[in-house]
Amino acid sequence: MKETETTSTCCYCGVGCGVKIRTEKHGLITVVGDEDHPVNQGKLCSKGMNLQYTVNDKSDRLLYPQMRYHRSMPVQRVSWDDALTRTAAVFRTMIDKYGPESVAFYASGQCLTEEYYVINKLIKGFIGSNNLDTNSRLCMSSAVAAYKMALGEDSVPICYDDIELSDCLLIEGANPAWCHPILWRRVEAHKAENPRTRIIVVDPRKTDSAAIADLHLQIHPGTDIILNYAIGRLLIENGDIDHEFIKKHTEGFEAYEARVMERTINEAANICRIAEDEIRQAAAYIGESKTLLTMWTMGLNQSVKGVDKNLSLINLNLITGKIGKPGSGPFSLTGQPNAMGGREVGGLANLLPAHRDLKNEVHRQEVADFWGGTIVSEKAGLTATEMFDALADGRLKAIWILCTNPLTSLPDTRKVELALEKAKFVVVQEISNKPQTLAYADVILPAAAWAEKEGTMTNSERRISHLHKVIDPPGEALPDAEIICRFAKKMGFTSFDYPDPESIYREHTLLTAKTNIGIEGLNYTLIDQHKTVQWPYYKRRNQGTKRLFADHNFHTPSRKAVIHSPDVNFQSEMPDREFPFILTTGRIRDHWHTMSKTGKVSKLKQHINESRLEIHPDDATHIGIMDGQLVEVISRRGNIRVKANLSNGIKPGCVFLPMHWGKLGGSDLHRTNNLTNTLLDPISKEPDFKFCAVQVTPY
Ligand code: SF4
Repeated sequence: MKETETTSTCCYCGVGCGVKIRTEKHGLITVVGDEDHPVNQGKLCSKGMNLQYTVNDKSDRLLYPQMRYHRSMPVQRVSWDDALTRTAAVFRTMIDKYGPESVAFYASGQCLTEEYYVINKLIKGFIGSNNLDTNSRLCMSSAVAAYKMALGEDSVPICYDDIELSDCLLIEGANPAWCHPILWRRVEAHKAENPRTRIIVVDPRKTDSAAIADLHLQIHPGTDIILNYAIGRLLIENGDIDHEFIKKHTEGFEAYEARVMERTINEAANICRIAEDEIRQAAAYIGESKTLLTMWTMGLNQSVKGVDKNLSLINLNLITGKIGKPGSGPFSLTGQPNAMGGREVGGLANLLPAHRDLKNEVHRQEVADFWGGTIVSEKAGLTATEMFDALADGRLKAIWILCTNPLTSLPDTRKVELALEKAKFVVVQEISNKPQTLAYADVILPAAAWAEKEGTMTNSERRISHLHKVIDPPGEALPDAEIICRFAKKMGFTSFDYPDPESIYREHTLLTAKTNIGIEGLNYTLIDQHKTVQWPYYKRRNQGTKRLFADHNFHTPSRKAVIHSPDVNFQSEMPDREFPFILTTGRIRDHWHTMSKTGKVSKLKQHINESRLEIHPDDATHIGIMDGQLVEVISRRGNIRVKANLSNGIKPGCVFLPMHWGKLGGSDLHRTNNLTNTLLDPISKEPDFKFCAVQVTPY
């Protein structure tokens, strides 16, 4: 094989670091950071540095399609034609008998934009339902809804360069030092060079991100809105708000002012279980700064109040007028590498392409006309957890799962297993033979992995990058978009005849014309020429856009941003005598999601090699637990058994578990999501992963 060097983008988190992939002898690759890339200038975190091992190790790869006619039978190797012919026949039968809403696709924030696009077009434009959701529902959907409510559209206003231009960073519910490491290196370097830059971290745990903070507000879980309202009240009282900006460019301030005055700072401090002075200090830091960059991720998003928590933080940018300006703005850190691309093509159950609104008849007609299929239904599709509820009660008959492992990542996972047992037909499209979903599959379709296919992704700052195909997939594995298009044609839909991924991309760009995320005219060659492009892209100027809302014209009908004042009522599962601890869950530094990639790399197991329960030493003493001792953690839904990790970094009364581990050797007793519950944010339908009641006992 000829030795080559190709640029690409890391496939893990939403930071979107540039890499160079070098092919070597025997089809192996090496991966290094791309020193010319605007995001990472050559740096990579531990996951990115070890990407080549996940590609070179093909020992767990699915190599050919497999199928069975009955669940009691083992799956057998079949041809692509047989697998897709049968799948199309079953889908057609279900749709004819039970209607288009009897089938669904459950995909991933790791899909390429072209992949999202063709699945979305197939289900919404041709099958005739909106039953496409992805694991981004578990990740970003609260931020999507909040941006739309506050700014008029799901538009991340900032660019990464705002980090170095900011003199105040407020980071809530995020540990970017572990989960967005290369971005955090930029924050650390900025702080080191400019020690007067204020960093405020809000987190119930003392994380590595909190370690460099000027102020760490270790609040009680779930009390974020109360804290943000208290900071808002102090900014108003201290005269640190921008009256002119509020008057000219926002609506809703009067109601907000009344809302934040409902509670004194002392009352807020008591509820948040921090000192009143700490809240005053946070407000003082923000008030005396020229800029304000607010950053957040799952700590706010994964909550029954996820949208409201987002809004309460965005409000701080709006009342201070610190948005659309260098160094300022609300910045939701994206968890997955291409959750943003999925949002752009409308790849969720309640979205339409290019930020069009599913409820808007004109928008639905525009999309239907463009695709030339059936009408686009106005009824929102089933979201992630709703799909599995619908499988369990028989409303949904067939599900196609691709590029995600819901039997580790969905809340109350034992319930998800029961739902898959009841499904009439399950298709699993995967790269690996490890995910537990394969045990429930009637049809297994082998997919190409990162570096084995071509397409685009968009990172957290709206930056689109082009990922080249570098090596061939093993066996008969195919790129995900090609699998979907072959299936669509088997279903009889003729407009899925794309000669290459770029043809799909070009079609997607045309559908963005005259929208606020327009990228019409963009193609792979232009992206490569620019290296990356931030949307919206202006064809005439051949230029992307660094920062949104510089003119303070928001995307709402009034062109003003909306300051919302949600209530603070708390609807999570509260601890009680039987289940006295609050369980919060999250990522660890060196693993990714359900570990189908990072679990193959021995170097990445050196940091933390097993799931452990983080618990405060005072709580451990109270219940008679020593460091390293095996404990049982029980919730109203299930149990797990892991070792205890005594840590002063967590608040008494709270415990923490990593979310990565699933079934190991047939046992599910390390799977954190046995414990979590299916309470959802009523708007975003994002689960309450960060809060449920558990008991902990020595085992
Ligand atoms: Fe990859 Fe994210 Fe690490 Fe960058 S920070 S190398 S995108 S995992």
